[in-house]
Amino acid sequence: MKKTVLVSGGAGFIGSHVTVELAQAGYDVVIADNFSNCDRTNYDGVCRILGKKMPLVEMDFCDAKAVDKLFDDYKIDACIHFAAYKAVGESVAEPLMYYRNNLLSFINILDQAHKRGLNVLFSSSATVYGEPEHLPVTEKSPRQPATSPYGNTKQMCEDFLRDSVAAYPGVKGIALRYFNPIGAHPSALIGELPRGVPNNLVPFITQTAIGKRECLSIFGNDYPTPDGTCQRDYIDIVDLAKAHVCAVARMLDGKMKKPYEVFNVGTGRPVSVMELVTAFEKVNGLKLNYKFAPRRAGDVTAIWADPTLANEDLGWKAERSVEETLAAAWAWEKRLAGK
Ligand code: UDP
Repeated sequence: MKKTVLVSGGAGFIGSHVTVELAQAGYDVVIADNFSNCDRTNYDGVCRILGKKMPLVEMDFCDAKAVDKLFDDYKIDACIHFAAYKAVGESVAEPLMYYRNNLLSFINILDQAHKRGLNVLFSSSATVYGEPEHLPVTEKSPRQPATSPYGNTKQMCEDFLRDSVAAYPGVKGIALRYFNPIGAHPSALIGELPRGVPNNLVPFITQTAIGKRECLSIFGNDYPTPDGTCQRDYIDIVDLAKAHVCAVARMLDGKMKKPYEVFNVGTGRPVSVMELVTAFEKVNGLKLNYKFAPRRAGDVTAIWADPTLANEDLGWKAERSVEETLAAAWAWEKRLAGK
């Protein structure tokens, strides 16, 4: 019997790629989204890639009754939760909006997990590690106090899941800590769709290259790193999506070592902002307009993953090169521009 996976926020950047990989791995997928932070482009793209109309429930996960009805209507075996706000700066300006949306929606899902017995996968983030003392970071590296309400919601939701698993038999959970997801599907039918001026590096690069933005500002070139710019672990979005398929299979096939597990999802490879810009120029054969600007408040100097646990226990490994990923990001931006 095919298992059914619910993807909350399945029309977003990560959720849409995860939906495609799950469906291609043989799972039935139900997408639930309220389109509050995205339009239908990625949903339509998912249906085109998969060649069928995917089940879609338009709903808000803060509405407990709607969540209960969703679980009545579909027999869900596992749930992956992406439906959340994700802009760090906005979370500082609107903390209650972030706490209400990101925490309440997850509590409503955990209520269902408690009531019905459910496998829950939470989309966490490397932001929980703050500015790490030792690199690369393992899952045992200490979490640092969050520096934004957004980061705080990631830590709190991890704790909600850990505590629910401990208290309620029948609930199992995995938290995946993503490093920096970038790129787009090789079909160029789904990808990142930032609203307004992008906060993240790669959408800003591609929008500058296409002429939507005048110039990329590289925030800080005086960091204590080899070339003075920050280092991150950029993980291809399709590789990241495949980690979810491995995690879902691990939960559904009864392979977990403990009922609550945490995995870093990264490449293990540090790449500086300057290296990323140079790689983008080279692989796509163009010159990017950029300048050095002051450091951005809240940025850590360097962080990258030790992905050993995910490699060994999850049986997952990042496969795509930064160059392939940046070519896919550029193909997506060109497609959006109709070029
Ligand atoms: N960055 C930059 N210019 C931009 C956006 C980001 O130089 O317009 C840098 C940022 O300072 C950080 C890296 O790119 O060192 C990754 O930033 P992003 O916002 O993509 O992800 P974060 O690591 O902050 O989650």
